[in-house]
Amino acid sequence: MRLDKFLSDNTLFSRSEIKNLIKKGSVSVNGHMINSAEFKVVPETDNISLNGECVIYKKFVYLMLNKPAGILSASNDKNRKTVVDLAPAEYKHYNLFPVGRLDKDTTGLLILTNDGDFAHKVISPKSNIEKSYIAVVDGSVTPDMITAFASGVVLSDGTVCKPAILEKITDTSARVIITEGKYHQIKRMFGVVGLGVNALHRERIGELQLPDDLLPGNIYELNVNELRLILPIL
Ligand code: URA
Repeated sequence: MRLDKFLSDNTLFSRSEIKNLIKKGSVSVNGHMINSAEFKVVPETDNISLNGECVIYKKFVYLMLNKPAGILSASNDKNRKTVVDLAPAEYKHYNLFPVGRLDKDTTGLLILTNDGDFAHKVISPKSNIEKSYIAVVDGSVTPDMITAFASGVVLSDGTVCKPAILEKITDTSARVIITEGKYHQIKRMFGVVGLGVNALHRERIGELQLPDDLLPGNIYELNVNELRLILPIL
């Protein structure tokens, strides 16, 4: 990777500011001052300093988003705004994508990352990671529905869902906890028991809870301890 790209990717300086800093002699690689922006570095092993301070290389980033309604869960779309468009400019070069998808009208906790292996593990039904949602429905949640969710709902196309937890909150709102993420799963599960979903909000993935002070549209970069709340093996 070019030295100027490495530095603009891993610091808050722009590419042109970086070029000036390199020219001024503010950058060293493995203890040697480097004056060329095109100098090739190996981010994983080279020791790169700017103004005497070591620049930490981040290969992967993990962002927690409070997804607002009306935004598409995708990396890019020609016409519509996506969840990745909400990431601050400093993250643009990371080729972020959402870990699973929330429907356009669903709100709440969504992780954006460039780490495909992490995303796969979080999404995979085999990992048994809980995803907890609050649903507002258009009728009463009954004990029969709780039993049906617990036994594994069979969707209208024959797809069998894993057992899920349905907890009544008020007459027309409930918490639903699933460990998989089929297309429109919660709306389809409620459809089978005769209820429509008026609003859906994801509040938790694994043990990572969406904080109350992360407002819709806002993004927070997770540290390794917070990531372990999602995937303890990290
Ligand atoms: N289930 C749904 O139906 N929609 C979502 O956005 C997430 C889970």
